[in-house]
Amino acid sequence: MGFIDLLKKENTQGEDKMEKKEALDMFCYQCSQTARGTGCTIRGVCGKEPTVARLQDNLLFAMKGISAYLYHARELGYTDPEVDAFLERGFYSTLTNVNFDAGKFVELALEAGKMNIKTMRLLKKAHIDNYGEPVPTEVPVGAVKGPAIIATGHSLKALEELLKQTEGKEINVYTHSELLPAHGYPGLKKYKHLVGQLGGPWFDQKETFSKYPAAIVGTSNCVLLPKEEYQGRMFTVGVAQLPGVPHIEDYDFTPVIEKALELGDLEEEPRETVLTTGFGVSTILSLAGKIKELVEAGKIKQFILVGGCDSPLLQAKYYTEFVEKLPEDTVVLTLACGKYRFNAMGLGDIEGVPRLIDLGQCNDAIVAVDIAVALSELFGVELNELPLTIVLSWMEQKAAAILWSLLALDLKGMYIGPILPGWANEDIINVLVENYDLTPLGNPEEDIAKIMG
Ligand code: SF4
Ligand code: SF4
Repeated sequence: MGFIDLLKKENTQGEDKMEKKEALDMFCYQCSQTARGTGCTIRGVCGKEPTVARLQDNLLFAMKGISAYLYHARELGYTDPEVDAFLERGFYSTLTNVNFDAGKFVELALEAGKMNIKTMRLLKKAHIDNYGEPVPTEVPVGAVKGPAIIATGHSLKALEELLKQTEGKEINVYTHSELLPAHGYPGLKKYKHLVGQLGGPWFDQKETFSKYPAAIVGTSNCVLLPKEEYQGRMFTVGVAQLPGVPHIEDYDFTPVIEKALELGDLEEEPRETVLTTGFGVSTILSLAGKIKELVEAGKIKQFILVGGCDSPLLQAKYYTEFVEKLPEDTVVLTLACGKYRFNAMGLGDIEGVPRLIDLGQCNDAIVAVDIAVALSELFGVELNELPLTIVLSWMEQKAAAILWSLLALDLKGMYIGPILPGWANEDIINVLVENYDLTPLGNPEEDIAKIMG
């Protein structure tokens, strides 16, 4: 089967994707000596081995992830020359006839993981310096009466500018998807017209944006090509762009404001679902004494970080079932939009310690790392000895950066799904399983039994 045929199969079933994975050893078409002028798929004409090609792809994906976080840090004026220099070296190493060494690409991936930790830390600093450290905040889901703007994506800077410019204009601003954690930042929650959340993860946007006659702003990924019914009231800003959709320059949201006012009111609806977000390191550390006591008394048996991107794949239901079936002596830490699989479940608390702790966006994986380090100090054990299991959900390339960050910290025994990344062929998976005890998701009940020992 040729590559074009494989591309045509892209939008079909999961089984076909597996076929694609088996059919291609590698794919590289970056230079003019490429096989048959279409692509090297078995081995490079230059001599590049398939595993090297896949490790190069992996490095590129991880660097794309780092770039996203770096971009948002730069939006707030924060940069890091060491990360910039790494990105140059990493990209350069994937050019034709530069580096054929598989081992070196594993090292580069681990280095990318470390650079991503630096970058996430930089972005967290940028967020906290500008908006304060998040505090737990309840966010109602649903509309209140009045003209509305829905902001989706990850850019707190874009949201802040939008909030400033809409202040006093009788327009309600709602978050969608990965902007939910914005409600926890004191510097953003102070805006009274930031009234709540509409919809859930990125892939419900066609439904959510069609349902509410509001102006919409896409501030980053994940934006989808809009449906006709809301294309005329959608805008993008920053890195996000959609054909036929006006792009906001220099954070001047005047056209969005005019559109929201022209569209008129959203109708009031019951706001029964309330999501809690905004747990920062300080909040968790303020509970440290209580957590220690509960762990020692056997009332908290395991912390489980269930985090990462959500996807519309059927297999992603795993995460809902997994959290639903967890025993009541577990605490779930979560981040990124995978949380929408279970963040409305009302897991309750264990003597005042919430059983669901939303740490924020995917870049807030750094908060999870800092909490894990603090817990390991609290209990006087190594990171890998903590009663902590990481269950990652994989969708796009930031997850590659985060995965390598966790591997760079030498964290072992992580679970990953709902399907394995396409770049991970058998050789790579074997290395990850052997060296890091990385486990592909199985069935929720069996995985929980393994985790709980
Ligand atoms: S760099 Fe090597 S593998 Fe890639 S297209 Fe050129 S010859 Fe093929
Ligand atoms: S967490 Fe991942 S899937 Fe979700 S909105 Fe962000 S980038 Fe997209």
